[in-house]
Amino acid sequence: MHVPALDRAGVIGVAACLRAAQPAWAARSVEERAAVLLEWADRIVAEGSAIAAAEAVDMGISRDRPPIAQIAAGSIRGWCASAPSVIAAARVSGASSTMPGVRYQAELVPYALVGAITPWNMPLMMSLIDIVPALLAGSAVMVKPSEIAPRFIAPLQNTIAAVPALAEVLAYITGDGATGAAIVDEVDVICFTGSIATGKRVAARAAERMVPAYLELGGKDPAIVAASADVEHAAARVLAGATANTGQLCFSIERVYVDAAIYPDFMAALRNLAETVPLAHPQPDSTGLGPFISAEQGRIVERQIADAVAKGARVESGGDLLNLDGGLYMRPTILSGVTHDMAVVQEETFGPVIPVMSFDTIDEAVARANDSEFGLSAAVFAGTEDEAAAIARRLHAGTISLQDTCLNLARSRDVASNPFGNSGLGATRSGPMAITRFMRSVAILAPAERPTKLTHSH
Ligand code: NAD
Repeated sequence: MHVPALDRAGVIGVAACLRAAQPAWAARSVEERAAVLLEWADRIVAEGSAIAAAEAVDMGISRDRPPIAQIAAGSIRGWCASAPSVIAAARVSGASSTMPGVRYQAELVPYALVGAITPWNMPLMMSLIDIVPALLAGSAVMVKPSEIAPRFIAPLQNTIAAVPALAEVLAYITGDGATGAAIVDEVDVICFTGSIATGKRVAARAAERMVPAYLELGGKDPAIVAASADVEHAAARVLAGATANTGQLCFSIERVYVDAAIYPDFMAALRNLAETVPLAHPQPDSTGLGPFISAEQGRIVERQIADAVAKGARVESGGDLLNLDGGLYMRPTILSGVTHDMAVVQEETFGPVIPVMSFDTIDEAVARANDSEFGLSAAVFAGTEDEAAAIARRLHAGTISLQDTCLNLARSRDVASNPFGNSGLGATRSGPMAITRFMRSVAILAPAERPTKLTHSH
């Protein structure tokens, strides 16, 4: 689908309109801003089937799975419920602990214009994840979803137009990398979700402009399975975590380290389960594995498997790129004999591929899990949650699921998560900071009592 790309002049024009409207938006109370966003959430639900149908076409997934508009609306409502207390908690005041004669208070000033640039996977949710907290903070927002999955933008724009107070301060714009680069040049804060390569370019430009860049980038998530783990359960959850959305999630499981003592049992369980996973063809259904987003993505995965096999890996299950009526599919693909010099361990795969390696000691498992430029998230399975947690504390990852995989979305408003390595940079989108990172805190200081005379002496 071709969508028009807004050029630099267009971006500058949209930015000017948003900046003009932002002071009135910031002057509203947070409760008033939340009321506007709650109205928007209802409109999104009302437009749900059109949005879901658009995503289904772009992503090659069933339009009934998951109920994307309801999930999005639920997330907006949750942030609206949290925002007043989060902002109140940040508005601190009191007597200075270092200069007891001085009183302080924090004045919270939202950044006027926030930009968000988002990727093609989970396009609606990714486009909302930073902008809802930014709007609640009092910023105006321009967001550019990926040019690869843009169909949802048109129905979403209907929902924004239906809420005039929101339409003044929120603009969805279409375009490619050049449009994205123009956005980075215009905003006061940039939120970027996407690949490490593009994230580095965005961060470099933001640094030149001295504006904050909040980056959420790729992952190569490891799962560690200790000898004491429930093998069947671990295999089932690893399979689910590696194949959801055909592996095209930033927090997919992409590497598995299994204690040598249970390696044969784990592999047998994983193979048995993998062979029961149907392909979502000819009709996308609610349980099958869907096609890759693009032929290019399928070829990347195929190349990584070929590289692994050339270096000595064995395909235990799946492995072939299947062209079914023009869509490229792959069954869950299990690899053994994998080593860390292979692209399938070094690079993000974004496919339903599960390289499984064995280890002899937990020290070795931790060292290998941490041997990566990525550090987005991870998973640990062990006999008890305490044992799993002890391993988790040694991992370089921002979010770690115990006895399960991919619990990442549960963080939401409750707990912050800072990725390690090249997987991210800057204040995070989860926990209370998700909102407060869009506000400067200005420290207003005054003597507790008015000085009566000049006190300096020499
Ligand atoms: P991408 O980096 O190719 O593109 C992301 C966005 O950046 C797109 O909107 C694109 O148009 C824009 N862009 C391209 N060049 C630009 C430039 N020079 N300046 C500004 N913007 C530019 O990523 P993608 O292929 O769309 O998405 C997949 C990647 O996103 C994977 O690495 C995945 O792990 C990551 N991701 C991360 C998270 C997370 O929360 N950490 C979530 C989803 C996806």
